[in-house]
Amino acid sequence: MKINLKELSTKYDNIAVVIHTRPDGDAIGSAIGLYHGFSMVGKEIDLLCDMEIPRKMSFLYGTDKFKTTVEKKYDFVIFSDCGDPSRVGNIDMDWRSTKTMCIDHHQSSTNFCDIPNVDPSSASTCQLVLDILEENQIEITPDVANCLYAGLMTDTGNFSHTNATAKAFSDASKLCNYGACPNVLNRRIFKLMEGNKIKLLGNTMSNLKFFEDGRVAFFYMSLELLEKLEVGSSASEGLIDFALSVENVQIAIAVMQSADKTFKVSLRSISDIEVNRVAEHFGGGGHKQAAGCTLNGYYEDVKDKLIRQASFYTI
Ligand code: 5GP
Ligand code: MN
Repeated sequence: MKINLKELSTKYDNIAVVIHTRPDGDAIGSAIGLYHGFSMVGKEIDLLCDMEIPRKMSFLYGTDKFKTTVEKKYDFVIFSDCGDPSRVGNIDMDWRSTKTMCIDHHQSSTNFCDIPNVDPSSASTCQLVLDILEENQIEITPDVANCLYAGLMTDTGNFSHTNATAKAFSDASKLCNYGACPNVLNRRIFKLMEGNKIKLLGNTMSNLKFFEDGRVAFFYMSLELLEKLEVGSSASEGLIDFALSVENVQIAIAVMQSADKTFKVSLRSISDIEVNRVAEHFGGGGHKQAAGCTLNGYYEDVKDKLIRQASFYTI
């Protein structure tokens, strides 16, 4: 067994699982899966994320366990779905002086942990956690199956990216056997538009810009727009898929102005185009078909830089 939960829980006193800022279904689901695994071997661990779990995901079992601040010293820290320590955002922890483990699937994962478990061939971190739970003979309850399914579903773009492989479907099938409920998760995570999100969708799509003969689609959400429509930053999630679904579009780019005036960039692409390379050029990362980065500077410069870089990858 590669990761023995019982052994870890007796070896270390204070264990934490930390996930990346702006947490997605995979980060959240994988951490809850690990929380469940440890609790089944009698160990209470902490889950850390530098921001509140988005309201859209808060229906998932275990999301109330997350803490946004570090209140104790940990002697073992697991970075889940987090390929780089900078991705934890404002979690203030001296992780360099503790034993660390990584459970991740990002291609751009840096080798920063004492015990690396990085499998870029896996569509999601939740599948790696599923393997860990099964290896440790942990009972997977329907609640936990839903969390893991939510992560697998998010990271495969609802089973639509190239990482929606036979293995992804067989793990989805396993999770259904454990009690996951795809129709409920699909509606809550992919279909449901909270509050004024539908207005944001209308606004962004009617202002969609095209470049490179329609191969690159681009839209921008300023702070002013988000405030005017009374939507939070999480309302932007999923809108980019509409931009990518336009005929001939190969790369979709969404830029959102953050409260600190930086620009949070999301990138999506159709198969064969590795949009993570565009993100990596700007210090970000992600997956072949879904990646992101954060940029500073003037909006017009940011936009030009992104479109120029993306154009290198269109075919
Ligand atoms: P999203 O566009 O949904 O925010 O992110 C898509 C994917 O790119 C996710 O797998 C996410 O972890 C990754 N990603 C987003 N922003 C960043 C970033 O600033 N740095 C890195 N390394 N990955 C990012
Ligand atoms: Mn992931």
